[in-house]
Amino acid sequence: MSLDNSWFSEPFESCGTAFSLKIKAKLHEEQSPYQKIAIYDTETFGKLMTIDGCVMLTTRDNFLYHEMMSHPALFSHPNPQNVVIIGGGDCGTLREVLKHQSVTSATQVDIDERVTKLSEIHFPELCTSNGDPRAKLLFVDGVQWMKDSPEESVDLIIVDSTDPVGFAEGLFQVPFFKDCLRVLKDGGMIVQQSESPLLHGETIIKNLHLTMKEAGFVDTQTIPFPQPVYPSGWWSATMARKTTAIPPFRETDAREKTFETLYYNADLHKGSLALPTFLKNILTT
Ligand code: SAM
Repeated sequence: MSLDNSWFSEPFESCGTAFSLKIKAKLHEEQSPYQKIAIYDTETFGKLMTIDGCVMLTTRDNFLYHEMMSHPALFSHPNPQNVVIIGGGDCGTLREVLKHQSVTSATQVDIDERVTKLSEIHFPELCTSNGDPRAKLLFVDGVQWMKDSPEESVDLIIVDSTDPVGFAEGLFQVPFFKDCLRVLKDGGMIVQQSESPLLHGETIIKNLHLTMKEAGFVDTQTIPFPQPVYPSGWWSATMARKTTAIPPFRETDAREKTFETLYYNADLHKGSLALPTFLKNILTT
């Protein structure tokens, strides 16, 4: 729905709010075999990609999401070498993962090749690592891919998916997490985008913790971060481990990281491990 021709607006009916961006032009729109993808040029946030009318990313603020989906987990695993990204077709998470020298292979498994093709055109800065010899881009269903993958072959699974509806629904369910657990090596980790702490704490986030634990994961941990273009402007990622590890993250390595980030740093990582009180209450009752 748009307020008028110069605005893109995404209403969130269930909470009676909407997020809008003033647009200069609609650059592209198509119905892929899986979803409706649109690209806009906005007045103040650079380019905008939407899928089925939902904001996926903008040029201006995607660094928040992509850095927090990758670096906290990568600096929490003792030695992440083989990384798999489920979804993530815009390639921003892949680019962040490949900043880590320990990573020897990063496989991105998105169901929809069109998301990646359009990102290469409209968000080329996110696709700069697609040609890295360690990168592999596959276009198949992540649920099926995980089912078919050999056991103990991956160190870190990053689930960078759309909301838990349609073909992304299975990525939030016990059978998928059981497959993830089987595919992870000893000491392996998973991190999943887990929606808004404010809007989805009682529902999606709480359920995700329960679902991950039911599948056999331990030490589930939600890290909130700002994301202006998503519902409520506040988002989260939820991490879990195959086996408990202490210390919770490689703080010295994070402090001495050899690559640039715009949001992530060791102090922020440490701070994000402290849950807001209301969320702590939700997750401990
Ligand atoms: N940052 C975004 C958000 O939180 O809304 C996610 C961005 S990323 C573009 C989401 C990707 O997940 C899409 O490209 C979509 O094709 C992919 N996806 C959804 N369900 C999937 C599945 N079952 N297997 C693989 N990819 C999937």
